[in-house]
Amino acid sequence: MSDMIEKLLATLLRTEPRTKLRKTHSQMTNTAGEDLPAFSETDLQPEKVEMTTVQHPDGRMSQYPPTEKWDDWVEWDGKLWPQKVARRYTLVPTVCFNCESACGLLAYVDKTTLEIKKFEGNPVHPGSRGRNCAKGPATHNQVYDPERILYPLKRVGKRGEGKWERITWEQALDEISEKMRTSRKKRQDGIMYHVGRPGEDGYTNRVISAWGVDGHNSHTNICSSGARIGYYLWAGFDRPSPDHTHARTILLISSHLETGHYFNPHAQRIIEAKMNGAKIITFDPRLSNTASMSDVWLPTWPGSEAWVLLAIAKYMIDNNLYDRPFVERWVNWEETLQHADEMTDNADLLKRIQAVGDTPTFELFHELLQDIYVDFSFERAAEESQVPVERIQEAAEYVAQSKGQLASHTWRSASIGNEGGWQIARALYFLNVLTGSVGTKGGTAGNSWNKFVPKPFKTPPAFNAWNELHLPIEWPLAHYEMSFLLPHFLKEDRGDVDVYFTRVYNPMWINPDGFVWLEALQDEEKIKCHVALTPTWNESAWFADYVLPMGHAGERHDIMSQETHAGQWIAFRQPVRRVALERAGKPVKFTYEANPGEVWEENEWWIEVSARMDPDGSMGVRQWFESPYREGEIITVDEYYQWIFENSVPGLPEAAEKEGLSPLAYMRKYGVFEVIAENYQPYEKTVSGGEIAADGFVYQEGKVTGIARNGEAKAGFSTPSKKLEFYSPTMAQWGWTEKEYIVPYPLKSHVHPDNINVDQGEMLLLPNFRLPTLIHTRSANAKWLYEISHKNPIWMNPLDAKRLDVQTGELVRVETEIGYFVDKVWITEGIKPGVIAMSHHLGRWRLQDDVGMNKGASNVVDLVDRGAGQYQLNVLKGATAWESSDPDTSRIWWEEVGVHQNLTHGVHPDPISGAHCWLQKAVNVRKATANEKYGEVWVDTNKSMAVYYEWLAKTRPATKDSPDGLRRPLWLKRPLKPVVEAYKVPENITVAPIIPEPAGTD
Ligand code: SF4
Repeated sequence: MSDMIEKLLATLLRTEPRTKLRKTHSQMTNTAGEDLPAFSETDLQPEKVEMTTVQHPDGRMSQYPPTEKWDDWVEWDGKLWPQKVARRYTLVPTVCFNCESACGLLAYVDKTTLEIKKFEGNPVHPGSRGRNCAKGPATHNQVYDPERILYPLKRVGKRGEGKWERITWEQALDEISEKMRTSRKKRQDGIMYHVGRPGEDGYTNRVISAWGVDGHNSHTNICSSGARIGYYLWAGFDRPSPDHTHARTILLISSHLETGHYFNPHAQRIIEAKMNGAKIITFDPRLSNTASMSDVWLPTWPGSEAWVLLAIAKYMIDNNLYDRPFVERWVNWEETLQHADEMTDNADLLKRIQAVGDTPTFELFHELLQDIYVDFSFERAAEESQVPVERIQEAAEYVAQSKGQLASHTWRSASIGNEGGWQIARALYFLNVLTGSVGTKGGTAGNSWNKFVPKPFKTPPAFNAWNELHLPIEWPLAHYEMSFLLPHFLKEDRGDVDVYFTRVYNPMWINPDGFVWLEALQDEEKIKCHVALTPTWNESAWFADYVLPMGHAGERHDIMSQETHAGQWIAFRQPVRRVALERAGKPVKFTYEANPGEVWEENEWWIEVSARMDPDGSMGVRQWFESPYREGEIITVDEYYQWIFENSVPGLPEAAEKEGLSPLAYMRKYGVFEVIAENYQPYEKTVSGGEIAADGFVYQEGKVTGIARNGEAKAGFSTPSKKLEFYSPTMAQWGWTEKEYIVPYPLKSHVHPDNINVDQGEMLLLPNFRLPTLIHTRSANAKWLYEISHKNPIWMNPLDAKRLDVQTGELVRVETEIGYFVDKVWITEGIKPGVIAMSHHLGRWRLQDDVGMNKGASNVVDLVDRGAGQYQLNVLKGATAWESSDPDTSRIWWEEVGVHQNLTHGVHPDPISGAHCWLQKAVNVRKATANEKYGEVWVDTNKSMAVYYEWLAKTRPATKDSPDGLRRPLWLKRPLKPVVEAYKVPENITVAPIIPEPAGTD
């Protein structure tokens, strides 16, 4: 290739000629002033270049190198095209960490330079099957992000001032372990681990248990609590696992094909089903890509979904289109009949139910169902949901025709958006029950049936403590911790925190009411020490005392499994450069020795800090971190996983032996193991070893292990009755005795049309939809993803735009209950009239121009404390290009990076699930004035607290309604359960709210 042609190509492709590309970049530094991980520019030819042609028997070219070539794979360097420069790679499997799906990745690690050239899919991973969404390969951007944090940092100025000093890991370990030791010696609720994306199964929970504290806090209540309790009340599992591939009908509430749980693994299976003729029904007020690919799109008014679902249920019941034998066998219909008077006033029916006494008939249950849902006509559902009646009818027919093959799913969306959203999940699963599609081929299983979590080598005992800041007495049924209310609880003086760990969590940005978080994070009396474990800067880490850099997907160990389909697998996330070094015969002691800078991994950090917390073992902590192979010595991360793979994963040792490998070596080689290929209807499995008692339960050593069905001992479900609970005794026993709580029934959402006064300019703000290319706050440092998506305009229907006299691109001011924000508008018929929508990922900000968040992904802002609880955020500058170790940063062409709307959201804790009900009432929407600028945010935190108290007043505390003196039903899940003793409601506990008058709201 001549220079001239190369220059011409470079001009056309807007790249620099290769000769320039190959120059050594000036060593740029990160915020700590240290060298950044560099891209290698070597064009060394491996000594022996042998390209492998991979071809399937049918002639197709494979996209992937075969596994036998993973140790030594040669291919041309695509970046150096048109020159043919060969690179020799070792391919290391790992697991994506950019959403919860845990797809397999394959890292191409250059054997000469140890550069990670790219991440592709892992073809042997049973969940993702070699495929990824855009966020998987973009892991490369995160690893080579020039703004990432490379060394442990300690605050030297005031919190939030932005002054840091680099410290050693030794110093960080010593100082933080000392604070943990001091706290633990005083109390069992002083250390809090607050996790956003866990990205692993069980490791950290074991660590927290070993400390003997009630220390786990999560992000679940801003994510999935609504759906979880809805499913749990039915069947004792808290997530659905649809077998999309084999479905006849797929019913989705949200945009699963493009973004939902579990995005890539599910999307590919939904498409397979569609290609096989399955019908897709999607509920979404927004015309998502998923809705556009569906056979029936139901743009329901948010919160009305249960009306439509129950109208479909009524249609099936009235027309005897449901799977009667299944319902009769597995639903607690006899128990339901015993409580019929709680669900109906029909005197004749009640009389006949009472007349049969102890010998109820299923026919009476059928009649009761008809009676409960008598008002749920298609017409009424159409009126409530504002969708055409014919479309509801069409959906009903598809559901009724599914014949045990209804794959359904809801996760965030409506179930987290609305007050009472948990009943939407419950109404949805009712259709699975009626169609007999419970864990069947093509049906919807429970997550626990399709997810495999192995046991570690030693399990610490349950702790005897209860942290009121996690699960306060007002929310006995919350699923799980009331995490987004932590600053409100602190503000009310409910407690304080000695050592607060945030991990893959940016609470001030991602939660509603961020300025109340700001106040809490600045308060050194309430949060005495904040340690942010994070790979990159974020808004909350800026207010930490220690910022400790933790690895991305290819820089850490974890095991993960997800219910992606009707099987079980376990995947192994690995630090790929560490594995490459080991393959080259150069083992390292700690992962930070192989990662860029001194980026560590939580696994090793937790072992070291926990051992130092209890150096002589006198506190009982150290024992849990001692090696099962070397008595008394501290465990290594290799040993931790070695034990699990040798002892806790059925079939893995045998599979490894067949290849002449140890189980650990097998997992290092493939990164994944399929535990069970298919797992249908486990509740029908015969239970052995127990005895059927007179009450119909199967007992073994005094514990219920199953239920008798037609004289056979069957596993059943994980509910108290071992059946699917249509009638929920738990709800009734805990004070929620009305019909709309005890059986699947619609609850009136806080954004029901009755609560939105359109005539006065009110609208419904839908603030929580995902984009397929971004992931909450973590994708800001992924340049490819930001190039695709960097704006979050307000979606608005043309009818509303006409009323407000606005055009696409103009600024609109949206006022919420607690403040307002200003953003551009996008006029589209893809949103329902009366509803405005805005993606939640964007609008990241930094307080200093040169330090902090990625310059291509964040606004420089002025954060103004106006006093009396009022705050303002003004955008000073958008994204900019800049010189760095990565030539691409000088090519940033976009300026707009979105608006941070969450700051203006009042908190809406559902009184039952505890979920933050994301949908917001926009009390006023209008064209912005000339003085109101893009990205401007204003909030009055006095109003924030008033909204909090308004919702707190809806709760029914355990002090009043607990049937047994406990804080919460024992059978409900908690991420970490204490001993039963800790569940007892303390005698001296006082219950909020003492609602103060709002102040300073003028
Ligand atoms: S769906 Fe995308 S982001 Fe999520 S794990 Fe898979 S590749 Fe990663």
